[in-house]
Amino acid sequence: MKLKHLEKLLENLEGFSNPSPLLEQYRTPAPLAARLLFHAAMRGDIEGKRVCDLGCGTGVLGIGAALLGARDVVAVEVDPDVLGIARKNSLKAGVEIQFIEADVKQPEIHAVAGWCDTVVMNPPFGAQQLHADRPFLDAAVTIAPVTYGIFNAGSRSFISSYLAGRGEIDEVIGGLLPIRRTFAFHRDEVREIPVEICRIVSHHEA
Ligand code: SAH
Repeated sequence: MKLKHLEKLLENLEGFSNPSPLLEQYRTPAPLAARLLFHAAMRGDIEGKRVCDLGCGTGVLGIGAALLGARDVVAVEVDPDVLGIARKNSLKAGVEIQFIEADVKQPEIHAVAGWCDTVVMNPPFGAQQLHADRPFLDAAVTIAPVTYGIFNAGSRSFISSYLAGRGEIDEVIGGLLPIRRTFAFHRDEVREIPVEICRIVSHHEA
């Protein structure tokens, strides 16, 4: 599948109907999602693999992974209403995904999601709830040996020191995350936030 084709398919999926600011429910824009997934596929981390989308929201990343040939996709999300949208989107895209309603903060999250080859995620940046991104990092390194995550630009040193001994970043790709005015506290119509797609390799034994 071509990058543009994947982008188009992801673009056509349904977004959040009533996004929660506290949970930082922003849809991952299709071009950014497609970029992450294509890159992961190029590195051999998608096709034939068991992939987990952590905090799947509308399901964009998990659905894209399935479209690129993942063997199994599990998608974890805490908000049941949003899971309904993700489920609808997976049907629309014609892919099979195992949806799990769970909080990534729960200590047994690796058992809930099951061992995976690759995690893909666009976690909360921690703008509303301080450190909301940390449980995602904790969960990711216990679930899979490789993670692709979207973070605020400049997060690299924080992630490296936070994960010390548990995982390390071996590649960073810069990008822009356009955020449309979604919540009352947003002042601009569209704001482009510089982000980084980080590939994290965990010291995890399957
Ligand atoms: N890739 C998704 C991005 C969603 S934004 C998309 O394009 O739709 C982050 C998601 O993480 C939200 O759906 C939010 O509900 C979920 N989330 C936030 N905290 C969570 C937690 N502790 N456990 C599981 N999901 C969580």
